[in-house]
Amino acid sequence: TEVWSSVPEAPPDAIFQLTAAYKADQYEKKVNLGVGAYRDNNGNPWVLPSVKKAQAALIADESVDHEYLSITGLAEFTAASAKLILGADSAAIAEKRVASVQTISGTGANHLGATFLSKFYDFSKHGGGKREIHISNPTWANHKAIFNMCQINPVDYPYYDAKTVGLDFEGFTGALKSAPDGSVFLLHACAHNPTGVDPTRDQWHQIADIFESKKHLAFFDCAYQGFASGDLDADAYSVRHFVARKSISVLVCQSFAKNAGLYGERAGALHVISATPEQNKAVFSQLAVIQRAEISNPPAFGARVVTLLLTDPSLWAQWQKDVKEMAGRIIEMRKALFSLLTEKFKTPAPGGSWDHIMKQIGMFSFLGLSPKQVKMIVDEGHIYMTANSRISMAGLTTSNVEYVASWIDKAAR
Ligand code: PLP
Repeated sequence: TEVWSSVPEAPPDAIFQLTAAYKADQYEKKVNLGVGAYRDNNGNPWVLPSVKKAQAALIADESVDHEYLSITGLAEFTAASAKLILGADSAAIAEKRVASVQTISGTGANHLGATFLSKFYDFSKHGGGKREIHISNPTWANHKAIFNMCQINPVDYPYYDAKTVGLDFEGFTGALKSAPDGSVFLLHACAHNPTGVDPTRDQWHQIADIFESKKHLAFFDCAYQGFASGDLDADAYSVRHFVARKSISVLVCQSFAKNAGLYGERAGALHVISATPEQNKAVFSQLAVIQRAEISNPPAFGARVVTLLLTDPSLWAQWQKDVKEMAGRIIEMRKALFSLLTEKFKTPAPGGSWDHIMKQIGMFSFLGLSPKQVKMIVDEGHIYMTANSRISMAGLTTSNVEYVASWIDKAAR
């Protein structure tokens, strides 16, 4: 029949298309700086030693079965995850004001959070009567798609300043101040994707002041806890600061894809903080209703692995070491690329300096190159990156960083 004859073919996803082009390329020195997944110094995926041990323990444990989890997920997992992001001493947890639900990794957390807002945030009375969420320009491309799916219109707020290759703090805080009271703003908790540009602690305090006075709602997306500094607590600073100010409404999306290297296992959580335990009970019950209709119950294996990392003392110590190792290798690669561009090649920099490579945080760096310069690096250097010149630092190794720097140098001249 002809029922699908009017369906137009959608364009392929830019990132996954880049990976396909990289795989098809036969050139020996090809490099993939596109995908946001950690690679070891040989360019291979890394199964964390802590995760290997947790997996082995689960497989050996004969009491582990394959029954359904409950609708809201593994209770030990959601409780330990809440402590990880909000802090072991979190007043919100102690006061029973946190509704935590296990989700399909960070994407699922965003989707459940968006669906919850769509159903229960009274957009007619907040944010100037518009069903809108303010997202940073630029942001993770999927944010737009997810909120559109949930009938919440994504609108950009200024974030990245191309001139300084840094934060447009004036533009950002200006947008917070001029938005109608009760607007919803999406914030990257740390290691902003795609820019690698984060506010400082002092700037977070100023941002939180505006949230407080404008009664804005903070929708935090935390996909990289531990990747910014190597320290899981330090990277949760923004979220904990907002939650500590009781008057700000906060939702937190949490992913274990990157910091536990569990990309395909889809372990994540959504935490919604309420003002009272009574509200919390109602919120939790409604999250469960949405979850039931969407996925019935979340997947077990990744959540069991993470639970062991978070609750077994020796695995917890090993995992913290593993996270430090990943963050440390990324920081080493930043230093290597920076010194090659500034000392060896003396490459002309966009905006006059390459300092942004050292200042940017987490898995990604925005080089600040033009689409034309990027095209040259991709086509002639066989080095794959998105047109906005975002590179995944994890794609660099001690054996390819000089090759990459040499092509950035050629393109920038
Ligand atoms: N949020 C941001 C900002 C991300 O960069 C990502 C992954 O790239 C995610 C959420 C979700 O990832 P996942 O669904 O694999 O946890």
